[in-house]
Amino acid sequence: MPLTRDQIISRLQDVTDPELHRDIVSLNILRHVSLCDGYVRIRLEPRSPSKAARDQLAQGVDRAVRSLGDEVRDVTIEWQEPQGGEQGGPAEAGAQPSQGGQAASAGQAGQTGQAGQAGQEGPEGLPGVRHIIAIGAGKGGVGKSTVAVNMAVGLARRGRKVGLLDGDIYGPSLPTLLGLAGMRPQGHGRNMIEPFEVHGIRAMTLGQLVEAEKPLIWRGPMAHSAFRQLSMQTHWGELDYLIIDLPPGTGDVPLTMSQLLPLTGAVVVCTPQKVAQDDARRAVRMFAQLQIPVLGIVENMSYFIADDGKEYDIFGRGGAQVMAHEMGVPFLGTIPINMRLRANSDQGTPVSNFEDDAQLGKELEAVVQALQDQVAACDMEAAKPTLNVH
Ligand code: ADP
Repeated sequence: MPLTRDQIISRLQDVTDPELHRDIVSLNILRHVSLCDGYVRIRLEPRSPSKAARDQLAQGVDRAVRSLGDEVRDVTIEWQEPQGGEQGGPAEAGAQPSQGGQAASAGQAGQTGQAGQAGQEGPEGLPGVRHIIAIGAGKGGVGKSTVAVNMAVGLARRGRKVGLLDGDIYGPSLPTLLGLAGMRPQGHGRNMIEPFEVHGIRAMTLGQLVEAEKPLIWRGPMAHSAFRQLSMQTHWGELDYLIIDLPPGTGDVPLTMSQLLPLTGAVVVCTPQKVAQDDARRAVRMFAQLQIPVLGIVENMSYFIADDGKEYDIFGRGGAQVMAHEMGVPFLGTIPINMRLRANSDQGTPVSNFEDDAQLGKELEAVVQALQDQVAACDMEAAKPTLNVH
């Protein structure tokens, strides 16, 4: 029987807090448990600021989860700093001396109770949109937009309602990749705009709203408001998935996005070389910092198949997969270097990628399937009763 989140929570009832001598579930310090593809992520809000106590707690949690068997591929433990006095836990725990940055918790108790509540409600989101998935990359040119377009089209080919938002407000590439030249935006009501209906998806890009080739230079607050308008004032309608093509790197837009939209998760696109992996690691860490689950890593330009059918690992195929494994995040698959894919991207005909080249179509379908599996796994987790765990 596959491992479930309930099994993990029930096993965590056997873990005792080293200082309070009660199990961590009834102590109400377990803040989040998720399970995706055998990777378990646990967030704890420990009562004690002592490093030794936290280390001991982490060891106990790690050991307990791993004792569930080989299906547990990795365990990540995160700490959430105490939110003041709203927990209702044992009084003596809240009164323990704090150290360093944590000393603020007692003094802020009244406020943080409020702030914590509001924070838990999360960003306002988009009504009618079920899953919002961001596609990011540590740097430009690795094929992030190409992957975003092909994931969107691939999901639409499976009958899903899909939107694609060009969040790369500094250098929008959807006008080219989707062949939007000559299309004019249409308004919807007073302040909304209709997305472009192309290739079975609904797409929106700033590239069709401003002069082509005009450099788009945004200061932080302008970038925030450009992204906000583009995402919130597009009339998306009902969507199963909204895919967001982020700008490369770790700038303002991901932060704005995380504040505005409740994301299901993010995908990081990476090429196999070591230097590309270093950038991708930063992107993975950025999403973790923004509390956006990483659904997985896609290795693009993984290898090249020559006319004689021979495969060449130009950039060192498999590098991103090793990195994914090391970072404890799922690996969603590989996409080869393919001249047709490049030509279809330049011509804005992405559907051909799935129809004209059997090998390419197969690889793209596998990545779409892996992404859907990850979303389904996270859905399953979210649907479970919460036990004060979220
Ligand atoms: P990014 O969004 O990361 O900057 P793009 O998706 O715009 O990158 O891709 C950069 C260029 O590389 C584009 O010309 C695109 O067509 C090409 N490209 C991306 N992935 C592949 C691939 N697997 N095979 C061939 N060309 C690719």
